[in-house]
Amino acid sequence: MSCLFCKIIAGQIPSYKVYEDESTLAFLDINPVNPGHTLVVPKKHFTNIEEADEPTVCQIIKIVKKIGLSFKKNLATPGYNLAVNNDPAAGQIVPHLHFHVMPRLLNDGLRPWPQKKYQANQAEEVLNKIKIK
Ligand code: 5GP
Ligand code: ZN
Repeated sequence: MSCLFCKIIAGQIPSYKVYEDESTLAFLDINPVNPGHTLVVPKKHFTNIEEADEPTVCQIIKIVKKIGLSFKKNLATPGYNLAVNNDPAAGQIVPHLHFHVMPRLLNDGLRPWPQKKYQANQAEEVLNKIKIK
């Protein structure tokens, strides 16, 4: 087994567990954006979200919601970011599907990502390509 998160799931590498059930594990990220930053992973190895079956994705989202509620209730977190770095081009380093749940503090200075402007016709062109019919 070479996958880091599979090793964490198997207990071969220690982690601070926030939540666990039959199919899902949530544990503290070792390098948090803010304290409490949690990773939610399916126990079954899937590389990315397309590979994972729908029940697995739905279960992960349910747990993501529980983690966010716990932040709000127990840390008085005013908000949080959700992120999936889906594939290496998107910044995924550990190739085991995981959702980041990141508590935010007012004025913590984090700016998730820079945005661009559309060029002429660019919005229509991309829309025609990605629209789900
Ligand atoms: P990615 O870029 O793949 O979405 O993020 C992987 C995350 O895993 C990073 O935020 C990183 O801090 C976290 N991480 C890497 N190694 C470990 C580890 O051994 N234990 C824990 N708890 N988190 C890790
Ligand atoms: Zn894995």
